[in-house]
Amino acid sequence: MELWQQMVRDSVHSVDQLVEKFGIDRTVAEGLDEFFQARINPYYLGLIRYPGDPIWKQCVPDKAELDDLEGFADPLQEDRMSPVPNITHRYPDRALFLTTSQCGMYCRFCTRKRKVGNSDKISMKELESAFKYLEQHTEIRDVIMSGGDPLMLTDVMLEKILKRLRQIPHIEIIRIGSKMPCVLPHRITPKLVEMIKKYHPVYVNTHFNHPWEITPESTKACEMLANAGIPVSNQAVLMRGVNDDAEVMRELFTKLLKIRVRPYYLYMADETRGANHFRTSLETGLEIMQKLRGYTSGLAIPHFVIDAPGGGGKIPILPQYVLHRDEDRVVMKNYKGEIFVYREAHNGEAKPDVKIPIELIDKKNGNGSNGNGSNGNGSNGSNGNGSNGSSKKPKNYKEKVEVTEVATSNN
Ligand code: SF4
Repeated sequence: MELWQQMVRDSVHSVDQLVEKFGIDRTVAEGLDEFFQARINPYYLGLIRYPGDPIWKQCVPDKAELDDLEGFADPLQEDRMSPVPNITHRYPDRALFLTTSQCGMYCRFCTRKRKVGNSDKISMKELESAFKYLEQHTEIRDVIMSGGDPLMLTDVMLEKILKRLRQIPHIEIIRIGSKMPCVLPHRITPKLVEMIKKYHPVYVNTHFNHPWEITPESTKACEMLANAGIPVSNQAVLMRGVNDDAEVMRELFTKLLKIRVRPYYLYMADETRGANHFRTSLETGLEIMQKLRGYTSGLAIPHFVIDAPGGGGKIPILPQYVLHRDEDRVVMKNYKGEIFVYREAHNGEAKPDVKIPIELIDKKNGNGSNGNGSNGNGSNGSNGNGSNGSSKKPKNYKEKVEVTEVATSNN
């Protein structure tokens, strides 16, 4: 048995352990065990610094899970979009391929808890209908292996799947969605990366949510993947009490870049049953994004998205930087709240000088307004410098401004 397998075996998982280690009332612990079992491996358990900290919140069952009556079992309607077992086909040229129900840790916010933790193993035989579907659908060029966590499979089983996928000519890209680099980095072994790199191009999407998860062990795991030519990107989830803070996010994303992991997505938490207590307002996410853009490297800034309930797919959400747009120009503010005009192209013809009246500050609310009803000041109700939500007026504050567009020759 490899070290990582021993650590999975030695995880905290029973009702007795939940009562003894975390002081959870026995009846509540039984209810939580029934709802979604715990699995906290010794490595991740060791990252907890104090009760209720951001690491604890992600892995220790909480009574609030049982009080949530609003969430959905399958908020993204993955099962409805599943033409054959273990495949979800939502986007035209990509397919999600569920290869196992096991994970190195069971995250309390998991969107797929309806499937995850079930100890039934998926055999190659059971995956046959999925392979057939992928073979027949020549429009699919990108397969995302997920689960559960595909890196819970043995190297042998994982290689069988990769080899089989590589025999399908129209599949150009294979992605492995795995939280192992974060929650059980010991899984990333020299043998594993040597095997994976035979099936390039293979990408790994991992899932760090807090800077404390970046340790010498997880650093080594991500660097081993990168050194094997496997690009690694990160999908984080915005969660109350875990990472709903711009400084925590900035630290997370910049530290990820240092270990060669590209911040890719930041998700609003899904409307998953048992995870409502993790959800924040959209405003919180927009404020965080606004405090990142311009203040740190663009490489460290993920796409902020909502995975639309009902299976609508990922929808990007941006703070409001465009104040006004018409056929001739777009008026924007930068990260400091300064106003700029970009002229639309008109077949190389210069436009005469024009003045564009823009109402910057709504007198009543102190919020930005561009005179056409939209919020011209970002969506966080902050002042014009886009920084902190105080009512202090920006240096360049005026009730109204006229932005002069200067016509120049395009030659
Ligand atoms: S690793 Fe992923 S699939 Fe597994 S419990 Fe965590 S979020 Fe769910």
